[in-house]
Amino acid sequence: NEELLINSEKLYVAGQLAAGIAHEIRNPLTSLKGFLQLMASGRASSSQYFEIMKSELTRIEAIVSEMLMLSKPQVYELAVKDIRSIVNDTVILLEAQAIMHGIVLEFKHDEFPLWVNGVENQIKQVIINIMKNAIEAMPDGGTITVSCFGEGDTVTVRVVDEGPGIPGEQLQKMGQPFYTTKDKGTGLGLMVSYKIVDNHKGMIRVDSHLGTGTTMDIIFPLVDRESAAGEAGFPDSSPKDH
Ligand code: ADP
Ligand code: MG
Repeated sequence: NEELLINSEKLYVAGQLAAGIAHEIRNPLTSLKGFLQLMASGRASSSQYFEIMKSELTRIEAIVSEMLMLSKPQVYELAVKDIRSIVNDTVILLEAQAIMHGIVLEFKHDEFPLWVNGVENQIKQVIINIMKNAIEAMPDGGTITVSCFGEGDTVTVRVVDEGPGIPGEQLQKMGQPFYTTKDKGTGLGLMVSYKIVDNHKGMIRVDSHLGTGTTMDIIFPLVDRESAAGEAGFPDSSPKDH
């Protein structure tokens, strides 16, 4: 049982990030160049390298688009939202992907509005990143339970998976740029998520049990009803209600 609070120390300065990005992009570029030279010299038939070259290019593309998202000039559309509706949208968005992996998504939530002040698209991005990790941790299927609840002056989005869990030494590295244990991972999803949640004065808490699964809590400050007056709430009869 490992628990970890992520704070601003985990957020890396631009210089370290730039060095990391350069390194991560140089590796696939170097191998692409090598393949091209080999092909140009006529020592190899071109088609045998196409698949590898394509996957190297896809990797560069994935890194660049995640970096772009991080560096996008922030159009801050701060608004008070019921987080249940943001999570509901995200669950629907990822349903097809979950089904393809033999995964059932369960969604539970408090029966009253859970107001948060934030940038909806960014919050959505965090939930997507964390749910995708949960899906990727369960190649043999199972259930992912997503719940939203209020607790004191906080609102929590909890994502529970039935994956293998995370060993202690890995837990320390999660959220560092480019830390990944996946063949096709970028190791940027959690770093981006920590940064977004930190900007929202929230935090992400990881609780993982080897062999049982991982619980990721995304915690935001609860906004009081008064400042939330006039905002649209969550539909009473959502198809995802349990
Ligand atoms: P990526 O998904 O591209 O690897 P992330 O930053 O999203 O990058 O995650 C970093 C690493 O954290 C993953 O490679 C994985 O080792 C670990 N991780 C994250 N979420 C989970 C999870 N739910 N179960 C097991 N491992 C996880
Ligand atoms: Mg990820």
